[in-house]
Amino acid sequence: MENRNNLLRELPKVDDVIRLLADETDEIPKAVVKHTVQKQIERWRNGVIQGQFNQVSHQQVLEDIRRQLKKDSAYHLKPVINGTGVILHTNLGRAKISPQGAQHIIEVATGYSNLEYNLETGGRDSRYAHVEQLLKLLTRSEASLVVNNNAGAALLLLDTLTKGKEVIVSRGELVEIGASFRIPAIMELSGCTMVEVGTSNKTHVSDYTDHINEHTGALLKVHTSNYRITGFTQEVTLQQLCQIGKSYNVPVIYDLGSGLLMDMGDYGISGDPTVAQSVPYADIVCFSGDKLLGGPQAGIILGCKEIIEKMKKNPLLRALRIDKLTLAALEYTLSQYLQPQKAVKSIPTLNMMTATVQELEDKRSALQNLLCLREGVHWDNVDTNSQMGGGSMPDVSLPSLGFSVSVDGCSPNKLEELFRLNTPPIIARITKNSVVLDMRTIDYSELSIIADFLNSL
Ligand SMILES: *Cc1c(COP(=O)(O)O)cnc(C)c1O
Repeated sequence: MENRNNLLRELPKVDDVIRLLADETDEIPKAVVKHTVQKQIERWRNGVIQGQFNQVSHQQVLEDIRRQLKKDSAYHLKPVINGTGVILHTNLGRAKISPQGAQHIIEVATGYSNLEYNLETGGRDSRYAHVEQLLKLLTRSEASLVVNNNAGAALLLLDTLTKGKEVIVSRGELVEIGASFRIPAIMELSGCTMVEVGTSNKTHVSDYTDHINEHTGALLKVHTSNYRITGFTQEVTLQQLCQIGKSYNVPVIYDLGSGLLMDMGDYGISGDPTVAQSVPYADIVCFSGDKLLGGPQAGIILGCKEIIEKMKKNPLLRALRIDKLTLAALEYTLSQYLQPQKAVKSIPTLNMMTATVQELEDKRSALQNLLCLREGVHWDNVDTNSQMGGGSMPDVSLPSLGFSVSVDGCSPNKLEELFRLNTPPIIARITKNSVVLDMRTIDYSELSIIADFLNSL
């Protein structure tokens, strides 16, 4: 007890520390400095009271405060290097936008724009017009609408078309995307009644037709983007479902999930239906902007003009409306698809998806050429498997190349933490007790940062 009181007396005073650090914290807002100093001293005080320290030095406390101040005065949202090999890593922001795409965002963001202004007539126009023509060209859709994200798209669709009505959906397609998006929940929210038909593994045409009645508002098909049902299975295809819809005069809604705009079969990647394959059948299709499309967070809705016009009049649209920076990024991304060969290079998601093993080998060699590792730091070339991520193409695994790093006397967990706490953070995976980075999701521009970090270990 006596010792504890002595230690508490050793702790510096808030005002003294603020004065002491005044010069070096000149650029940091006073409120931030005060908050950080208070919090850190409080942390030390609690540590002493709980008996965590049996020694306290001013120097230690000051070092701690300096480190925390650096963190607290930097941006909270910041770039990281993705070494996980997961291309659309949801926690790391899904799709990235190329510097050329970002240039268009900068132009739109830093000035005024014709967001809702018609330059020909000098009158008001719709923000949705900016990508309508592009979407028409790329998908042959009759009409389109873009909103905040695909969850919003699904909500707007159901709310507009099926409020107070029944919506028939297969039990095999009641998808959950992360814990926050579940098909049954979004249906409940939109005020329709979900009518589940079939079983988890098998759904037949008659399961739908048996349940159609005068209350039916729509038939819903959901692409099982993040899982596959295999084995003893049967699915009613989109074409079959649309046939039913036509016969009974009920609209068919297709939540396509990831929104693959280009057939990637030439690159050995298949499994997901493309948007253009779905648009001719379904009355309405929706998908995400930041999954396989490789654009910004958005929800894209395509389909018959009559339904789209109805959605444009729904007041809910205002709450889900797309922002101008997103529109700029989306227009850039979509425009790349007009020349598919170019898109594969200029859209980072597609570029990473289609990178050959030889290209990855070259990138890894370029990194190795920058290395000058200290003794006790070990590097190994390893074969890895990259994933699409973002709940897309769960059964596609891309053969890839990477490297593993170990440091004598340092556990893999500790080493992974060192990577993560670097500036900028480097996100690695721990596989078979070693820290592994996959070259596929690492950009050339990031190699020198990684090399500097490894050389400093
Ligand atoms: C990803 C996904 C969603 C949600 O899309 P967000 O753009 O993340 O809101 C909805 N439905 C399906 C089938 C999906 O794959």
